[in-house]
Amino acid sequence: MDDDGESIASALAAQDSIVRGLVREDVEHGVLIPLKTTLELRDDYSTGRVLITRTPLKSANPAITMLRGLLPDEIIKGFPHLRRCAKPSDLPAHLKAQFMNESPQSRSIHSAKSNWIYIIVGPESMLNRDEVSRALSKIEGLESEPFLRSIPVPLVSPSSQVQAAMWSQQFWPSLYRKNNPLGPHPAMIARNTDEIANDAAIWMTLAHQVAEQAQAAGHGEPIGACIIQREEGRTKLIALAGDARWRHQGNVGCTGNPLAHAAMRAISFVAQKLVRVDDKITKTLPTPVLEFEAFQDKPLVEDEKKVFEVEHPNPDGYLCHGLEMYLTHEPCVMCSMAILHSRMGKVIYRHRMPLTGGLCAEDRGRGHPSLGGADGGRGLGLFWRRELNWSLIAWEWESSGCMKPLRVDQTIHA
Ligand SMILES: [Zn+2]
Repeated sequence: MDDDGESIASALAAQDSIVRGLVREDVEHGVLIPLKTTLELRDDYSTGRVLITRTPLKSANPAITMLRGLLPDEIIKGFPHLRRCAKPSDLPAHLKAQFMNESPQSRSIHSAKSNWIYIIVGPESMLNRDEVSRALSKIEGLESEPFLRSIPVPLVSPSSQVQAAMWSQQFWPSLYRKNNPLGPHPAMIARNTDEIANDAAIWMTLAHQVAEQAQAAGHGEPIGACIIQREEGRTKLIALAGDARWRHQGNVGCTGNPLAHAAMRAISFVAQKLVRVDDKITKTLPTPVLEFEAFQDKPLVEDEKKVFEVEHPNPDGYLCHGLEMYLTHEPCVMCSMAILHSRMGKVIYRHRMPLTGGLCAEDRGRGHPSLGGADGGRGLGLFWRRELNWSLIAWEWESSGCMKPLRVDQTIHA
């Protein structure tokens, strides 16, 4: 057995008997690829203008102290990605050339032994030039006519070291602070990837199996979902659901029952388990009402039933708060929003749905024949959107072995 095989075997041995009993196919390791957010994929960052000045080195501190008085602190703190001060030699080439050629004095400031420094004053729109000039002219060495120029700068932080280096050449010396204003923090992604890497293949295999069961039973497309809870390194399987869109649908030229998508059914199973606990406590209904045909959220295939019968390990808290969901296919927009509203913590899917998926932020369906030459537009990247009140970390899972792909029509909404 190779290293991967051994680590899967030990991850499987650590699971409870229900999980061990359910896994029938070979479990193969996969690679977890974190999804990019819409902001990370679009470099249409906005710029704004700031005023800059320059002082002899010895006057830099008094100048900065004086400038602090001109603007509220939080305004300057709003530019953590820009260096407040820059040596003449560190300016981008075009600014260097522009300032150097302004006057003989300017030329000497840009000589090799320069003892001058450039300083950002603040956003141009918030400053009164005359007021700034007057205040600067009281600083030693700036009495004659203080230098004041307006330059464009990016308003948000760079998302990588490379972008920071580019901006330093294009705008002003910029810093990458190893945080990512455009998506989840890289350290957070790394930590979470490590956390799930050992056993992700087990849950993906279960989603895979239930997808095949659902298809074989004639209930739906070969699409499956698996929800687990992870607490202090221990994992518990909470729900397993296959697609049931074609059940009782007559299958005639329609998209099937959208409420019976695998992700919706899996979330419903979690909800029913929570209700079941409450019912036991309040001694009301012994079993939840499952005869709700539109939702098809009664367990249908064998594996779904087995998992459904087990009580929820931690029935406190809101619906799927912090849970993990493994999906054979990228969920459609409806399911993505349901996942988000259920407060899921992590989502991992195997097959991308480039025409209908809701999580991926990359451009959709470019060149796909069903679009007849039209461009499919931008991906929605619903897992991480500033304007929504919840975000989660999402990965694409690539089987590193030969796990059979589960093919569905590209126009299907998973
Ligand atoms: Zn869906």
